[in-house]
Amino acid sequence: MWLHDKIVGFFGIKGIWDLIQSHQFTMASLMTWQGLAAVISPIFPALLVVEIIFLLWINRRSPRRLSSAYKMPVLMYATNTAIFALVNLQVFFLTYDAFAKLALFEVPVNLYGFVYAYLAWELSHFMYHFTCHKVRLLWCFHAPHHAPSHMNLSVIFTAFFLQGVYATFVRTGICSALGVPLPLLFLIMVIDGCWGALIHVSEEAWSRGAFGGALGRLMLNPVHHRIHHASNAEYLDKNYCNTFPIWDKLFGTLQQEIPGVQIKYGLNRDVRPGSFVDMYFGEIYLLAKDVRSAPTFKQKLLYVVMPPGWEPIAK
Ligand SMILES: [Zn+2]
Ligand SMILES: [Zn+2]
Repeated sequence: MWLHDKIVGFFGIKGIWDLIQSHQFTMASLMTWQGLAAVISPIFPALLVVEIIFLLWINRRSPRRLSSAYKMPVLMYATNTAIFALVNLQVFFLTYDAFAKLALFEVPVNLYGFVYAYLAWELSHFMYHFTCHKVRLLWCFHAPHHAPSHMNLSVIFTAFFLQGVYATFVRTGICSALGVPLPLLFLIMVIDGCWGALIHVSEEAWSRGAFGGALGRLMLNPVHHRIHHASNAEYLDKNYCNTFPIWDKLFGTLQQEIPGVQIKYGLNRDVRPGSFVDMYFGEIYLLAKDVRSAPTFKQKLLYVVMPPGWEPIAK
């Protein structure tokens, strides 16, 4: 029963199943929040399955390569689900309520409000993501997401479980303080969650960059995010946004693909192949080692808060 619930939960089909069972699978019920969620939630799991089948087909002569690409994301998903469960929901509502007191106004739920709210959301996402790359302790939470050496949809499951808590705190806190009302925040989280997942599609399944039209030029695409996952010097620490690269443009971190410079996925250090422990805890272990070896309290603290790679200047 537990496994059945987990499988149904993972594939996101419980909502639709409940609507069918209660004979409420109608246009009217699909236009409610619950109905919308029921329709949207199976989309990503279905695409993930399609991508796995597609990659299975094109990698049929080297199945080991494929299993190693999926092993770590699946292990991290299982670990994070087990630890995480309800913590994030609590953090969300506590943060929203606490920061709403700082808001000078609340934007209306209309098109203008939506545009404002999306700008606020992308800013909050930029700040969360940028700090994850620039503060060593936060990098420890985020690094497992950059560790896989193959890009595919399952990479969205890779992260140290505390990254989700930090992301929720920063994004919800900023949006709430900037007066984003809950309905708009939920709507944007759904759009961002879907698009943020899809930009991890594998090169084999979608090699191209932009898609046509004005929206294609305006939106961030899978190639932008592949560049974000690259460890090449040319691409390092670029493209922090998820959906619209507004703040990347403004802060000078937007990077397009450079002809001839192929993306090299993975961390800037050798990760032990097939080691979940190294992928999940490796950066924490290395930080702890640096902190322990630092002679002064100030240096210990600087190791924790300075960007990854920071070293004290030798006297
Ligand atoms: Zn990142
Ligand atoms: Zn990513």
